[in-house]
Amino acid sequence: MKFNTKTIHGGQENVDPAYKSVMAPIYQTTTYQQSTPGNHNGFEYSRSGNPTRTALEKSLASIENGEYGIAFGSGLAAIDAIMKTLKPGDEVISTNDIYGGTYRLFNKIYKDFGIKFHFIGMQSLEKIESYINDKTKLIWTETPTNPMMSVIDIEAVSMISKKYDILLAVDNTFATAYLQRPLDMGADIVMHSGTKYLGGHSDVVLGSVVVNDEELAKQLHFIQNASGAIPGPMDCFLVLRGIKTLHLRMQRHCENGKAVAEYLNSHPKVENVYWPGLESHPNHEVAKRQMKDFGGMVSFTTKNNSYKDAIKFVENLKVFTLAESLGGVESLAGHPASMTHASIPKEEREKTGVVDSLIRLSVGIEDVEDLIQDLKQALK
Ligand SMILES: *Cc1c(COP(=O)(O)O)cnc(C)c1O
Repeated sequence: MKFNTKTIHGGQENVDPAYKSVMAPIYQTTTYQQSTPGNHNGFEYSRSGNPTRTALEKSLASIENGEYGIAFGSGLAAIDAIMKTLKPGDEVISTNDIYGGTYRLFNKIYKDFGIKFHFIGMQSLEKIESYINDKTKLIWTETPTNPMMSVIDIEAVSMISKKYDILLAVDNTFATAYLQRPLDMGADIVMHSGTKYLGGHSDVVLGSVVVNDEELAKQLHFIQNASGAIPGPMDCFLVLRGIKTLHLRMQRHCENGKAVAEYLNSHPKVENVYWPGLESHPNHEVAKRQMKDFGGMVSFTTKNNSYKDAIKFVENLKVFTLAESLGGVESLAGHPASMTHASIPKEEREKTGVVDSLIRLSVGIEDVEDLIQDLKQALK
């Protein structure tokens, strides 16, 4: 199957043996009847397994070209499960430009459990290699990154992870399997916040992990059941339904993202536009090689770099909604300096590019002329 068929049919054979319903039913049940102790139809308790969740997990594995999908209650619960495969004393090399919640989980929880993190830029392979020792167990990457849209060369990093027999994990939330499939590029683990593009309609929180290695899959399934951070059947259904239109939505997100990035790039008040599709983007060549298209996430700064004007800009938007999150059908705007990155000291956040005027847009799938008109009036 090709990708656009997998989003709809991947792993969905016989989702309803009882009535042959076309869509996986929502099995809103905690438990399953046994005829004699231990004799059941494959499910015994819904923390351990639920048919709606299984349908979603098979779909997730299919679109990522992986063998095993494991679903969790949120993206962070998925990352949490990956971290539980480690032991005190283990070391992790992580991208420094990562989702704030991932940084918090690493730095405020797992650091206290004796895991050592090195947060570094991942544009230089020598630099990554220089942090590796015999305790290094995992390389954690996110590409494109949030909110600066830096692109990491997954294939190149995987050469290093393979050389030293270290696991490579990629947070694929921003790109999705439509734009890039990290397992095909040598990654061992691909993780998603399904809350974003996979769900796609801003109505469900869910996370996922897909792997090829059977032992790793067993370990993650064990943690899923033992720690219990599972998604409910209704949430699994919503993400499964979202995935069925992922390719259509992503195509439009990319088209609209391109139009918005180009409009902003030509606007006299705009200083920098961060979108990997622009030739001026520092990682444009890697993005062109690695991604099918360049996505719908666009960040930009203004020439006067005014904190006050940036706030006024987001307040004045009418079609874009000022809100956290991303990846839904509706366009959203955020001001990282006062929202997602407000807790980071000004000097620190500015080092990674999060200046006072930086605005992050999740470009939705509305009519692009309305989006551009909205940006135009708000910039005025
Ligand atoms: C939102 C997000 C997460 C966390 O996912 P939740 O579903 O909110 O727990 C992790 N990584 C990235 C890149 C995200 O955007």
